[in-house]
Amino acid sequence: MSNIERTLSIIKPDAVERNLVEKIKNIFLKNNLSIKESKKIRINKDEASEFYKVHQSKPFYNELCSYLSSGPIVVMILEGENAVLANRKLMGSTNPKDADENTIRKLYGISIDKNSVHGSDSVENAKKEIDFFFKN
Ligand code: UDP
Ligand code: MG
Repeated sequence: MSNIERTLSIIKPDAVERNLVEKIKNIFLKNNLSIKESKKIRINKDEASEFYKVHQSKPFYNELCSYLSSGPIVVMILEGENAVLANRKLMGSTNPKDADENTIRKLYGISIDKNSVHGSDSVENAKKEIDFFFKN
């Protein structure tokens, strides 16, 4: 049975700054995820804090929100078979040091905080995150 899902992907400031947007998009496209929407934006710290509020109790929350609002990001809606998990597999582990070979974070991540991409972790969160950036 086919299971087409949508998920939210963000190319974070460290990767946009290093001109990795097309390289990362090509990884999605080569792996059967289509890019339904894409926009380059900059968000402020309040918006980043809202987006990442599930992490508000974590010690890294303040730095995480400062970081996501520190420069341009590219937000995308990816669509494809099991897109939520497929994207998470292409991203690799949160810490690039632990990520599998050929994952985006292994290839391009700098550190656990500057790890180049965000991806929704469930279908439910994907819906919320897509709404956050693309509701009009
Ligand atoms: N993060 C961090 N320090 C940590 C754990 C996470 O700076 O010890 C950042 C990192 O950028 C990560 C984001 O917080 O991508 C969200 O954390 P999560 O555990 O949800 O990881 P992800 O879902 O992005 O793999
Ligand atoms: Mg997460």
